[in-house]
Amino acid sequence: MKFKIITLALVTTLFSCKNEKADNDKLNVVTTTTMITDLVKNIGGEHINLKGLMGSGVDPHLYKASEGDVTKLVNADVIFYNGLHLEGKLVEVFEKMERQNKTQVPLAEFLDKSDLIGSEYFVSNYDPHVWFNIEYFKQFAKITASILAEKDPKNAAAYKLNEQRFLTELEALETKVTSTIATLPKEKRILVTAHDAFNYFGKQYNFEVVGLQGLSTATEAGVKDVQKLANFIIEKDIKAVFIESSVPKRTIEALQASVKAKNHEVEIGGTLYSDALGTSGTKEGTYTGMFKYNVNTIVNALK
Ligand code: ZN
Repeated sequence: MKFKIITLALVTTLFSCKNEKADNDKLNVVTTTTMITDLVKNIGGEHINLKGLMGSGVDPHLYKASEGDVTKLVNADVIFYNGLHLEGKLVEVFEKMERQNKTQVPLAEFLDKSDLIGSEYFVSNYDPHVWFNIEYFKQFAKITASILAEKDPKNAAAYKLNEQRFLTELEALETKVTSTIATLPKEKRILVTAHDAFNYFGKQYNFEVVGLQGLSTATEAGVKDVQKLANFIIEKDIKAVFIESSVPKRTIEALQASVKAKNHEVEIGGTLYSDALGTSGTKEGTYTGMFKYNVNTIVNALK
């Protein structure tokens, strides 16, 4: 009996060696949201096998792991995710991976907590939409490069180089965003969206931010919330409100109808990418492209 177990173990070892060879010895990396997939792609480049679980237009608050996702996670060498309970329905899967001693990197949980925006809604007690502060995304890039280098030392120099290139890109993005927003007068900086994804953005660029559904899409907006926000829009003379690509547009349309019922008009200023990037392969399918697109849409509609 003992012999049999040893043989089996040997076979398993041989088999797993063969498996790694088939994957060209590259690190198997799994990511959750499209923002994190784009980040890790920028740092890992062709040196990693990267699998992103969520696609464009997918809401991370509601996303549940499929059987295929669990297989990907089990086979991963490293898992990068946002954390702070953004991926609220994946918590159990992450805990399961933790018990299997998987290397998991909840990027937002590495940030200095004293800088974060508090929120009673999330189990984490913090607002998890941290990627809308470019400074935080720069920190994500640094953490990612150092973790990849640690797990795959032979490509450490390449990861470092990619980190520096991406940081330069993010600095250029910061300059561009700041100058575009500077063209919008302070009193017009009121951002009304479907849910509260833009608090970090608002804090950074002096916008008052109001989300109809609150911080997570898991709570539906009630009639009272819609009425209250409609009154606010009229009182502040807000020109436009925004749909989000990962949230059904009916709540914002209900808000627009409510404003109209009070004999006022508010435009739908466009669709913003909040919790997911645009279609892969387009400009908006990248973090920097998404950020520029959002800022241009916001500034053009509120001007
Ligand atoms: Zn969200």
